[in-house]
Amino acid sequence: MPEHTPQGQSPQSAPGSNGRSPLDLPEGDPFGPGNLPYGIFSTVDFPDHGRIGVRYGEYVLDVPTAARTFDSVYQDLLGGDTLNALMSAGRPVWQGVRAELTGWLTDPAHRAAVEPLLHPLAEATLHLPFEVADYVDFYASEHHATNVGKIFRPDGDALTPNWKHLPIGYHGRAGTVVVSGTPVVRPSGQRKAPADPAPVFGPSQRLDIEAEVAFVVGAPSVQGRAVPQRDFREHVFGVCLLNDWSARDLQAWEYVPLGPFLGKSFATSLSAWVTPLDALDAARISPPPRDHALLPYLDDSDPEVIEPAGLDIRISVSVNGETIAEPPFSAMYWTAAQQLAHMTVNGASLRTGDLFASGTVSGPEPDQLGSLLEITGGKGPYLQDGDEVVLTAWAPGPDGSRIGMGEVAGRVTA
Ligand code: MN
Repeated sequence: MPEHTPQGQSPQSAPGSNGRSPLDLPEGDPFGPGNLPYGIFSTVDFPDHGRIGVRYGEYVLDVPTAARTFDSVYQDLLGGDTLNALMSAGRPVWQGVRAELTGWLTDPAHRAAVEPLLHPLAEATLHLPFEVADYVDFYASEHHATNVGKIFRPDGDALTPNWKHLPIGYHGRAGTVVVSGTPVVRPSGQRKAPADPAPVFGPSQRLDIEAEVAFVVGAPSVQGRAVPQRDFREHVFGVCLLNDWSARDLQAWEYVPLGPFLGKSFATSLSAWVTPLDALDAARISPPPRDHALLPYLDDSDPEVIEPAGLDIRISVSVNGETIAEPPFSAMYWTAAQQLAHMTVNGASLRTGDLFASGTVSGPEPDQLGSLLEITGGKGPYLQDGDEVVLTAWAPGPDGSRIGMGEVAGRVTA
């Protein structure tokens, strides 16, 4: 009997429920063979440290054991307790591993060998999937930037003069990126409303969320050499969901003139699953029309030169189980390929594990706003202790299928 089989089930019916093999997915399962997201998991059978897993339906494939079973040439890259070795190996290896995974999970000849290597997701503990190197957060939604500009700078132009010329970003704190499910302690800090005579210290009274999509760098680059937009897929391994928790009262007092700092750095939640870029091929779309000419390194107006780098990802934001917004990633003005090009145009190099997030995803409609700041017009209410925020998302896959993205969940604690 496989080690993970619940007691009382016969080997014939295990490990699927109702006698169904875990390899036989329900019709339309968003974690089917076109998806194959990577994560790091452990179970009671191997609790000490995580190993690489690939999600398949409601199961997790034990990848290192599968690689040994099938004598994969990639065994050494798949044996660690993070995805970093695989991520650093580059796109030809990513494609090779993905082809092997597809074969293991879909070739009828492999069923008997693979079924015992699928662990129920409900019995797995998921870990931060890679060691985060540098973390950058952008500000790429025109709708979000306009809404925030009106709230924070009511007397000025909503968009700053640089906004349509470069993707604005700031460096966040890589060491406080946490995996989905990690509780988030309400941060304390300084705040001072404009009418207050002096700053006060205490727990944030305006704790907010930012629903974002994040891109994970796999293959590094050389310092001094820019990475052009057309090389995006050679460097970016995959995509996550991200919640950029934000203390608006701390942020409003500290952010001038150098940008976000302690109002953001206390915690950033990341999905446990990294969706491979290749799983999102059917979701690629053109970004919104550009109304300013861009400098050559950012120009993406000719699809013959730069393939469309927008992504049709549909996000859903819930608080305590109630959906409060459905932000469309398709509405983002700046693409991840432009962000990567901008991040390196000065010669800054990429490291394996670099994480860059899109900025809050907001669309043009009132039910498409990715932060409570925008949803409530800056007036609140914001998050209470005990509130649980969950971001989920899906994207179109091949032949009308859906590609599910791993959720990012977090509960606020006092
Ligand atoms: Mn953000």
